[in-house]
Amino acid sequence: MDILRAFNLRRTPQSQPADARQQPNSAGGYTFVLDDAARLRRFLTLGTDGATYYTSAHELTRQNAECVVRMAETDHATLVRTLVDVSLRGAAPKVNPTLFALAIAASIGTDEEKREALAVLPQVVRTGTHLFLFAGYVEQFRGWGRGLRRAVASWYADRDVDALAYQAVKYRQREGWSHRDLLRLAHPVATEDSRRALFDWIVRGSVGEATPRLVEGFLKASEPGADVAALVGEYGLSWEMLPDAALAEPGVWEALLAKGMPQTALMRQLPRLTNLGLLPPLGGWTSRVAEQLRDPERLRKARVHPVNVLIAQRTYASGRGARGSGTWTPTPAVVDALDAAFFAAFGAVEPSGKRTFLGLDVSGSMTVPISNLPISAREASAALALVQLATEPEAAAFGFTGGWPATAINPLSISPRQRLDDVLSYVSGLAFGRTDCALPMLYARDKGLEVDTFVVYTDNETWFGDVHPHQALREYREASGIDAKLVVVGMTATNFSIADPDDAGMLDVAGFDQAVPNLIAEFSRGL
Ligand code: CA
Repeated sequence: MDILRAFNLRRTPQSQPADARQQPNSAGGYTFVLDDAARLRRFLTLGTDGATYYTSAHELTRQNAECVVRMAETDHATLVRTLVDVSLRGAAPKVNPTLFALAIAASIGTDEEKREALAVLPQVVRTGTHLFLFAGYVEQFRGWGRGLRRAVASWYADRDVDALAYQAVKYRQREGWSHRDLLRLAHPVATEDSRRALFDWIVRGSVGEATPRLVEGFLKASEPGADVAALVGEYGLSWEMLPDAALAEPGVWEALLAKGMPQTALMRQLPRLTNLGLLPPLGGWTSRVAEQLRDPERLRKARVHPVNVLIAQRTYASGRGARGSGTWTPTPAVVDALDAAFFAAFGAVEPSGKRTFLGLDVSGSMTVPISNLPISAREASAALALVQLATEPEAAAFGFTGGWPATAINPLSISPRQRLDDVLSYVSGLAFGRTDCALPMLYARDKGLEVDTFVVYTDNETWFGDVHPHQALREYREASGIDAKLVVVGMTATNFSIADPDDAGMLDVAGFDQAVPNLIAEFSRGL
């Protein structure tokens, strides 16, 4: 045995570094490391309130918060630009990480930088709930100095009075905060009578001539014996503004539907609407509701995130709520509408026309829920892969897992013509084992497949193979003569990536970003 044969720069086991830039991941393999700007995108879109298979939610949160703090100290402008971008595009299923990052940006940096962060507050903090969340986070990093008080004051002073009244009546208190608390802290100056009257109602509960009409409607609806259905139509009340007893009446929900329900509220209330008999298999409100659910324009305006549609689809189709919160008989037309809404929520996706290999890591660690949502990493990857299957004329999906019981990489029998909940249950039933992210490239080479772009959905916790994924890609390029690209879709908020950051043919994207299908297609096409 020639000991010199054991050292090889072209094929390195994943349990050893192939490159000085690599670091150990949590599974004991070596991977490349994302820079802070790329990790920030993963954090903002994927969040940390679910643990990964390897790392507790606390530890993952600490690492990501430290990354955001470092960005605030060293590259404040990129931090603010990124969080505004994620917020305005509705790129993330949850707003919490973005508001948390804004709280840090408003607390750390030079005075000028903090001012710049507070200047974007009206764009990012759009609802009363956002404001309460932000108020809680910001106290973790700073006190209520003048700059912060002024920013919150202008949230109340600059917004259109009727829009502000809507926020004040709809979200009265959350997260231990109320509008009264914030008005007392921030002391906004009201220049119009109606705004002054609204502040008076919020702080003292007093009502006068100039009080916005919506407050009057809200108060009337809470009186005993009120005709709530009529008041909904007359004052444009939303369901959050109504007393609990009224929410058991079908007539009240008919009035809410007739007035037009916001997209997200409608999606969440489907089980209740079904149980109240408003969404029968034929007739009723079914076709109108189905049409609204899948309307691309409404989805875009309400910034509805595809992952939230996916969860709504599966929950509704299952006929039973999370944590045992009731059962219903799903109406097929509504299930189908949610299915269509999932694809529509990505907006228009331009195909790349490239031969696309969709490789889904279905190993054990991918079975954990992401972001504390009722969906596993591998289910979410299957849904994302469906969007590409629906768009790309030449694309095929494969599931891979390494080692025990045997290395397996197989074509997945999934299609955008199947129902989403069927696809998810198929994928969650697949066998799983160890992780080897080189398998897609090795398999394509073995089988002589012609691939322009490999897309690998993974948590990047690869450790089992005897060659690193980027080395396997190089081998594939040499063997096939195709200058194939690799896109890594990261499904957890770690900083590991199998993509070599110095290879222009490799790209790392954050799994839950609603722009992922377009980012992949653009990169695939080449710029
Ligand atoms: Ca794994």
